Amino acid sequence: MSNNYELKGPFLLNKVTVNNRIDENAVGVYILEKVLSQDFLSQDLLIAKYVGRSDTDLNRRLQDHVRNDYYKQFKFKICANKTEAYKEECRLYHELKEPHGLDNDRHPDSPDDLDLECPYCWLKHSNSFS
Ligand SMILES: [Zn+2]
Repeated sequence: MSNNYELKGPFLLNKVTVNNRIDENAVGVYILEKVLSQDFLSQDLLIAKYVGRSDTDLNRRLQDHVRNDYYKQFKFKICANKTEAYKEECRLYHELKEPHGLDNDRHPDSPDDLDLECPYCWLKHSNSFS
């Protein structure tokens, strides 16, 4: 059902892993997973609960999440440009908001200077509200 296999990971969300995997100034998308429960072997069961992107520096964005220390694992995909990153984020958002819901359940915003439409629900989501 899930086709987020195109993302790399999951990796443990910590400073060293993020630095080893992602260069500075990369454009890309990511999902964050947190522990839902433990199974009978005391192994963590993880679900994706956050979808995000960075148009300027994916490494720095993820380091913010490292400091918050809330999510355990991440997956990511490096994108060629902001347009691709926005479309990828929209795809992940629509794929993952069901059935468990996302902690950030607001629809992704278009990059400020591009005014793109979401390819999945055909709505414009601008953060300018103008
Ligand atoms: Zn949409």
